[in-house]
Amino acid sequence: MDLVSPQPFWPLKNGLLSVYPSLKNNARCDVAVLGGGITGAFAAEALTAAGLDVVVLDKRDVGTGSTSASTALLQYELDTSLCYLTRKYGREDAQRVYRLCHDSIDSIERLVSKLNVECVFQRRKSVYLASSDSDASKLREEHRARKAAGIEVDYWDEGEVSARFSFSRPAALVSPQAAELDCHRLNHALLAQAVKSGARVFDRTSVTDYDAGAERLRLRTDRGCIVSAGHVVFATGYEAQEFLPKRVVRLKSTYALASEPLAEFPGWWKRCLIWETARPYLYLRTTNDCRALVGGEDDSFRNPTRRDNLVGKRSDRLASRFREMFPAIELEVAYRWAGTFGETKDGLAYIGQVPQMPRCYFVLGFGGNGITYSLIASEIVRDALIGRSNADARLFRFDR
Ligand SMILES: Cc1cc2nc3c(=O)[nH]c(=O)nc-3n(C[C@H](O)[C@H](O)[C@H](O)COP(=O)(O)OP(=O)(O)OC[C@H]3O[C@@H](n4cnc5c(N)ncnc54)[C@H](O)[C@@H]3O)c2cc1C
Repeated sequence: MDLVSPQPFWPLKNGLLSVYPSLKNNARCDVAVLGGGITGAFAAEALTAAGLDVVVLDKRDVGTGSTSASTALLQYELDTSLCYLTRKYGREDAQRVYRLCHDSIDSIERLVSKLNVECVFQRRKSVYLASSDSDASKLREEHRARKAAGIEVDYWDEGEVSARFSFSRPAALVSPQAAELDCHRLNHALLAQAVKSGARVFDRTSVTDYDAGAERLRLRTDRGCIVSAGHVVFATGYEAQEFLPKRVVRLKSTYALASEPLAEFPGWWKRCLIWETARPYLYLRTTNDCRALVGGEDDSFRNPTRRDNLVGKRSDRLASRFREMFPAIELEVAYRWAGTFGETKDGLAYIGQVPQMPRCYFVLGFGGNGITYSLIASEIVRDALIGRSNADARLFRFDR
């Protein structure tokens, strides 16, 4: 699958941060992690920190799948509201999912500080705009639900929005718990840490087949090598579907741009993360080198050729929406790209096992907050593999 258009922003900005060999011999390990994107990297770090012998395999250069295209806003808020999840799964489970995503931002911050990598994580506030009057009353209800879950969040009316921005909206929810990330650097830093703790990482190595023996799993690679593993963790992102017996993700196309560095951000309150209630939504953030990142304009198809042909048109539309919101900012588009993007029917990740595949775990961080799910998934799968019970695992199971 062609996951991203040529030249997404982060690999251009950061360059080649590390290279790994491809697998040329058979290997044996406790756990094989398939996929060296941000999800596989979180998993490899967590599993090696727990003392397991890990081999990571990626068919591309690590970090060049969806993670390279990610705009990497870190928000606890899901694509589905707490009110929606409460109606679907009951208050206790819905609140728990929101709290987990909320707390995962703190966990990522702690991990970044442990890894000691610079310019990766920056705390920001998150502003969720009501796109219409009717959405304003939904935000009031959502505000009450989140407060009842113990989440710190403010409700702003139209006057409070327009006092802080160069545009107006009927209402907004404002959350202090949010951050922006350089996901590509974090991806590499996590893998480097896993290697320090004993992991072996091989990229440009595709797993073409697997076979479940009585005791162990045997993964076959494109060069004919065999990896014998006690367990396999599938962190294969949107391509995981090819290993799964049932379709769990809707794939579509999404677009993003990065501006030239800006001297100032007039009309942009505290350089906060911004998104909106309309679907598909427009979203914005800034970067540590003072660019604006703007994303959205999603199309409901996956076709990569069609998607890449639309990068110019869709990013022009993103730029003009930006200019409507921030007339005092002179936005010059520096980079534009597209990526395949996946959503689940309820906005929750799929983490765990499917009955047909013993000793295999899926860690699939889908949705607009895929990265917070990747962190949560790494903790759930680590606990499963070291035999520790994790009461949250059931929230993301495949048969929910
Ligand atoms: C444009 C865009 C914007 C986004 N914005 C945000 C955002 O603001 N916030 C957020 O939280 N999330 C965002 N996301 C989603 C987030 O980026 C993804 O959830 C995340 O990057 C997925 O990481 P991953 O490691 O699961 O997948 P990937 O990065 O795709 O990694 C999976 C890896 O598996 C490897 N692989 C697949 N099959 C095989 C195989 N058979 N053998 C060996 N290797 C294999 C691939 O080569 C790939 O490197 C965005 C996504 C896109 C595209």
